[in-house]
Amino acid sequence: MTNSRQIRLVLVLMSLSWLQLAPGFGQSRSASEWLAHDPERPRPPVVSPAPQSLPVAPPEDAVVLFDGTGMAGWRSEEGGPAPWKVQDGAMISVPESGYLYTSRAFGDVQLHVEWAAPLPVEGSSQGRGNSGVYLMSKYEVQVLDSYRNDTYPDGQAGAVYGQYPPLVNASLPPGEWQTYDIVFRRPRFHRDGRLASPARMTVIHNGILVQDNVELWGPTGWLQHAPYTYHPDRLPLALQDHGNPVRFRNIWLRELPEHAEPGPVRKPAPPAISLAPAVLQRYAGRYRTPDGNEYVISLHGDHLRAFFYRQPEIELVPRSEREFALRWTAARLLFDLDGEGRPTGFIFEIGGDRRPVKRVD
Ligand code: MG
Repeated sequence: MTNSRQIRLVLVLMSLSWLQLAPGFGQSRSASEWLAHDPERPRPPVVSPAPQSLPVAPPEDAVVLFDGTGMAGWRSEEGGPAPWKVQDGAMISVPESGYLYTSRAFGDVQLHVEWAAPLPVEGSSQGRGNSGVYLMSKYEVQVLDSYRNDTYPDGQAGAVYGQYPPLVNASLPPGEWQTYDIVFRRPRFHRDGRLASPARMTVIHNGILVQDNVELWGPTGWLQHAPYTYHPDRLPLALQDHGNPVRFRNIWLRELPEHAEPGPVRKPAPPAISLAPAVLQRYAGRYRTPDGNEYVISLHGDHLRAFFYRQPEIELVPRSEREFALRWTAARLLFDLDGEGRPTGFIFEIGGDRRPVKRVD
């Protein structure tokens, strides 16, 4: 092969590898091997949930979105009055009325929703008790009567619609109140609109984990495989009108603190000092608390280790000749020294607790 041929071959290979790396070329947006709405996909196993004590009362810091008394805080898609009706403490999807949106917008949340599929049972597959809980109006946790009602797995109750089937089918019979507890982390975007990190979702259905911190690859939708596009940090929560009179009650959420980047600032540990092995050797020995717990301190090369309460040995980090920290912790040993600098005992300090420990060897 001539040099020019070799160069041309390298150029062709380089352009091919560039094409393979280019976004959207030859790669699926889905993390799964399955096509969206694939009816061949294995059905999640059925697990009967244990009875729960309902309704689940909102904690002190919750934003109560629906307590059974009215539709304040909800509106139509156009911003008009809420188009659903309230009956017996529940709000009911009015077929063909449109989606329901919260007036307030939310980002990262812990969300509690109780819902019940309609009785009498009508329809089948996606036509039976279909609704949905849309985080940020874009990311749907499917609501469906999935009790003895087969459908494609990424569209059954507890699915992140079109993306992730639930881990198990934890559905209760239609007419019975069911719970969703959802932890949602919104997608993050760079200032120029590019995605920084995808949305993540954990879902517990009737007390059973059905989504385990899954990463969404974009907004959910029927036959849609849309990538993320930039959107605000907070958007309304929405409930779907899919033409079935699904009931909802006791809806509340807790707004979660967003993780600051970088992480929380940790108070720096006080500086360690260096003590010569001959000095450290003075601390080696056996010590005992008044109630008989033994502490053994021993020298290993250039550092001390303590053994007590059947814990693995812990390194002692000197801050002075009187104060040693247990490495990685805020616990300390505060030594009493005699005239020759030899320890006669110490105070073991952890949290607000101070335990006197005397030397016994
Ligand atoms: Mg739906």
